[in-house]
Amino acid sequence: MNHHLTIKSDLFIGGEWRPGQSGDRFDVVDPADGTVVAQFAIATEGDCLDAVAAADAAASDWAATAPRERGEILRTAFEILTTERDQLAEVIVRENGKSWGDAIAEAGYATEFFRWFAEEAVRIPGDYRTSPGGDKNIIVTRRPIGVSLLITPWNFPAAMATRKLAPALAAGCTAILKPASETPLTAAYIVEALRRSGLPAGVVNLVTPVPTGPAVRAMLDHGAIRKLSFTGSTEVGRVLLANAAGSIISSSMELGGNAPLLVLPGADLEEAVSGALAAKMRNGGSACTSANRLYVHRSLHDEFVERFRSALDSFAIGSGLDRGNDIGALVSLKERDKVAALVDTAVAEGATISLGGETPVGAGAFYPPTLLTGVTHGSTITRTEIFGPVATVIEYDEVDEAIRMANDTEFGLIAYVFGPEGDAMRSAARIDAGMVGINRGVISDPAAPFGGVKQSGLGREGGTDGILEYLEEKYIATSR
Ligand code: NAD
Repeated sequence: MNHHLTIKSDLFIGGEWRPGQSGDRFDVVDPADGTVVAQFAIATEGDCLDAVAAADAAASDWAATAPRERGEILRTAFEILTTERDQLAEVIVRENGKSWGDAIAEAGYATEFFRWFAEEAVRIPGDYRTSPGGDKNIIVTRRPIGVSLLITPWNFPAAMATRKLAPALAAGCTAILKPASETPLTAAYIVEALRRSGLPAGVVNLVTPVPTGPAVRAMLDHGAIRKLSFTGSTEVGRVLLANAAGSIISSSMELGGNAPLLVLPGADLEEAVSGALAAKMRNGGSACTSANRLYVHRSLHDEFVERFRSALDSFAIGSGLDRGNDIGALVSLKERDKVAALVDTAVAEGATISLGGETPVGAGAFYPPTLLTGVTHGSTITRTEIFGPVATVIEYDEVDEAIRMANDTEFGLIAYVFGPEGDAMRSAARIDAGMVGINRGVISDPAAPFGGVKQSGLGREGGTDGILEYLEEKYIATSR
């Protein structure tokens, strides 16, 4: 791949890059053309348990390392990845398929977690109070929770890794990172950046077991792991929560979404269209935050659809290595076919294709920007996370009805509202979601708490809460 880069494709255990015990490898495929980018080491169950043992062995020294020192290692990683932003973006494009603009944006966002948590490492709060009865001092300190298993998806291979690694390391926890097998190279790039930043051996470990389930289960049953942080589908999250129950492992879950986007009467159409485009099409629609259902008030519907359609129509689709393309490939042909099947089902259930909807021929996992109108609330596509560049528009008459439909889902990650600010604020307050964007289509920020309610997850990442997921309170009483 890139001439000036050596991309790691091995496991990282106890401070060393090494092949798996079996010597077997799996292909990492460029979804834009089906070529093999690299062959990555398969981790056996034994390799995975070695990684847990390495993280366990490094845990007490790392917990005892001065917060400033931990923060400065993270700061160095921030600086390395800022300098190498283009290289990181290229790795993301090659294995994930996304557009150059999306990859560069992700590389920047991902890197910022190292800066944010470098700053948070030295601000871990505690408490000191007198008991109400006056007999004792109540001293509350926070300690690293311990060895953390971090499991990440393929859609944001850099950001989902740093959003977990940075707070875990800042808190003083050691970690095992298990990236999605579609995108291990980005994870390896980030882990190598941490090694180059001076992170001691064993503090971070990288494993890629195939198949994943049994090896992850073995790690969770090992006994040393005290924290599980997972980003991925609700379905897998449910299985992992059950597995974590065996050793009562503290679990944070960033799961699926089915984001509603409401265009209220009186909304500024230009703002609504550009916001909806960002909310829907960012990352080619492969985002848990992607606007899955656009509820547009009847008074604005036709003009919204026309403007949205013509904007989508101008999107260029093709390889992310060609920096002019707006939409890249989906991560795999399998994912592409899932999106195509959802569109077919929507049409069978009465939706109209206003743009796109035809799977292109060729080896690349491309799907065109697609707009579906006349979609019925409750139809399959409104109940399923689309994860592709397909927008569905549902017309409504009453705001109360739109809010009812927005909340009619087992998910609750994020919602978007476009309209006069007061009205939008009132609607936002009534929507069951962990996050709401008002008159803007992109809200992620390392300084803000990211997470969902209902079956979209447990816990928050980023912000001032992010580090707390990796800390445990310890109460010490002294007599007064
Ligand atoms: P996935 O659930 O299939 O896989 C996620 C990770 O879990 C991968 O590393 C995978 O290898 C691993 N995994 C799969 N089966 C496992 C098992 N049985 N035991 C242990 N690990 C297992 O999800 P995906 O397809 O990679 O990503 C898409 C999903 O991620 C979507 O549902 C999306 O909404 C969600 N997501 C959520 C957020 C969020 O912050 N809420 C962010 C990004 C993606």
